[in-house]
Amino acid sequence: MSQYEQKLKQIRHVTLDMDGTIYKGSTLFEFTQPFLQQLQNLGIGYTFLTNNSSKSVKDYVISLNDMGVHASEDQIFTSTLCAIDYLRDEFPLIRHLYVLGTQSLREEFRKYGFDVVEENQEPEAVIVGFDTSLVYERLCRASWWISQGKTFIATHPDFTCPTDQPTVLVDCGSFCRCIEAATGVTPHAVLGKPDHRMLTGILKRHNLEPNELAMCGDRIYTDMAMARSARCLGVLALTGEATEEDAVKCAPHPDLVVPNLEIFGKLLAAAQQNE
Ligand SMILES: [Mg+2]
Repeated sequence: MSQYEQKLKQIRHVTLDMDGTIYKGSTLFEFTQPFLQQLQNLGIGYTFLTNNSSKSVKDYVISLNDMGVHASEDQIFTSTLCAIDYLRDEFPLIRHLYVLGTQSLREEFRKYGFDVVEENQEPEAVIVGFDTSLVYERLCRASWWISQGKTFIATHPDFTCPTDQPTVLVDCGSFCRCIEAATGVTPHAVLGKPDHRMLTGILKRHNLEPNELAMCGDRIYTDMAMARSARCLGVLALTGEATEEDAVKCAPHPDLVVPNLEIFGKLLAAAQQNE
């Protein structure tokens, strides 16, 4: 058995980037459903991964369902859940949060026992997410608390969110730059891809060793960088951002480069069934 087959044989769980890996825009790739079915047949679990903190886990269950992909809540891991893990691990006494984010983001923190404060209450930390409902006064208020030394946490680093519409979707990383310019303070932590905690969160939830997890994605500098830093198997699918040329040029190389998930499924099945 070759070295990469040995690695594939150890895989018990697969994490899947979404846009560019299982669908493009709002169109599911035709191989996605058969691939997920194949994972089920092999007894391999899977989790969908996203940095987009404007939506809750529940929102993602609904939007995946609308595309025809059945997913339960525990099969979705967002940068928000990663931020919640981080707060619990590093700041176990923090309860009161000022959340610059959507209603869904605020509800997600409440669901996990945090108190999302109103405008006139003092928080212990400020969370900045992909606030697609951004209000100027709230941006100012978040900046004020950050200037007063409150713990500043960003759910993810993306400056923009990809779109095929004639607009720029200004994302969390850009809000943080704006706050940094206004206050001189940088975030204490920026969760989400490529931070390795996105994958260590999944390892913990499923009681896995790093070599038992494969991370599939279409971006070299986020998906593959994160796989490497979490010591998981990085599988680059050429169905999104990275081209074959990028894959050849990049260093270090992803563990595996495949045209799409269908081919990865075949390689995985062959390795797992190989005695
Ligand atoms: Mg992607």
